[in-house]
Amino acid sequence: MAKYFQPEIETAPLETIREIQNERLINTVNRVYNNVELYRERMNAAGVKPEDIRSIDDLHKLPFTYKQDLRDTYPYGMMAVPMSEVVELHASSGTTGKQIVVGYTENDLKSWADICARQLYAVGADENDYVHVAYGYGLFTGGFGLHIGAKRIGATTIPVSSGNTPRQITILKDFGSTVLCCTPSYALYIGETLEQMGLTPDDISLKAGIFGAEPWTEGMRKDIEKKLGLKAYDIYGLTEVMGPGVAFECEEQSGMHVNEDHFIVEIIDPDTGEVLPVGEEGEIVFTCITKEAFPILRYRTRDIGVLSREKCSCGRTFIKMSKPRGRTDDMLIIRGVNVFPSQIETVLTQQGYSANYQLIVDRVNNTDTLDVRVEMSADVFSDTVRNISKKEYELKEALKSLLGLSAKVTLVEPQSIERSTGKAVRVIDKRKLHD
Ligand code: ADP
Ligand code: ZN
Repeated sequence: MAKYFQPEIETAPLETIREIQNERLINTVNRVYNNVELYRERMNAAGVKPEDIRSIDDLHKLPFTYKQDLRDTYPYGMMAVPMSEVVELHASSGTTGKQIVVGYTENDLKSWADICARQLYAVGADENDYVHVAYGYGLFTGGFGLHIGAKRIGATTIPVSSGNTPRQITILKDFGSTVLCCTPSYALYIGETLEQMGLTPDDISLKAGIFGAEPWTEGMRKDIEKKLGLKAYDIYGLTEVMGPGVAFECEEQSGMHVNEDHFIVEIIDPDTGEVLPVGEEGEIVFTCITKEAFPILRYRTRDIGVLSREKCSCGRTFIKMSKPRGRTDDMLIIRGVNVFPSQIETVLTQQGYSANYQLIVDRVNNTDTLDVRVEMSADVFSDTVRNISKKEYELKEALKSLLGLSAKVTLVEPQSIERSTGKAVRVIDKRKLHD
């Protein structure tokens, strides 16, 4: 079985990738300057003309694009083609405010299918596989992205969508699904449901999972792999840039290759906007260089990550990005300590807890408080109150010594935290109620 969906580009030498990027960037800049008012105005204001952009070395001269720009031009102000050429619309799930809408031409959908197909090949799937898509279908990009990717590789595509978990298990069993695509929190939930139905991974045929759309940790990866008997891979994407498949994990399971023939990635200092060298952590910024309908320049994702050009054992030459720690918006500041929910998740899973947790943030007497609520396992639950308190204390100490975070820890009953069929809600910020 071929390992790469598009070997010439996935393993191209860096110089070839650069040439492609230079040409496509110049093209895109000209198109947006001529067709998108916001870019024409921004570039004029910055004193940059399309002819000033001669290679990706000039990228830094271009203005950033912010989520707010997409809201201000809602719904169709950022389209670079007439709406008659737009064949599909999608919208962000609106996790962080008013939704935005994006469009795709027929060629854009082809590119999207290609990048999702690359991901599927990278996890060992081909036309003999049964790809079970349990991301939500609809305006959310998760379902349709993997759907068209699975069809592109000629796999038998099963568009289950999310929800109705017992039925997911029936389909996994009866249809013989071999590749599962959903959010990591839903994968965990499906794994727990399998167990509750008295089944084991041997009763289903999954070999790989493609899990993304939210941050998740290595601890959660191990847990999902065990519960579902598969290898779990990370996939990254966002509606504004394309949807799932902007970056994809290979067999090395150590970060995601960015599809550099479609997107140019930069890491910047979120405060100053300065471009940081490869290897430094900062905000991830993408420029779309093949999109026709909705090409955005230097889009500020607010996701925090690191890039690496180290040679990958899979043979792909695309740059790799780390699992993003989370969005700057999700970072909690608890009495001076900055912490991402994913860092707390790492500690919880290292201490043997599952990723069923919730973080309750509040402000009491002008002081921020954090209550880490995590489910205990059935055997801990049947333990004495004294032992449960001891476990809470141990976890509290672990959070303190590993993250410098002082938080209250509450072990809650098994199954008491609401499960998610899409993106999990990890943080409940009660401070917002007082504002
Ligand atoms: P919304 O912004 O409404 O949640 P999207 O579905 O477009 O809608 O979400 C994209 C965001 O999801 C990314 O900017 C990132 O924060 C998060 N995300 C997507 N994939 C991953 C991943 N593999 N790891 C961590 N975060 C991810
Ligand atoms: Zn690789």
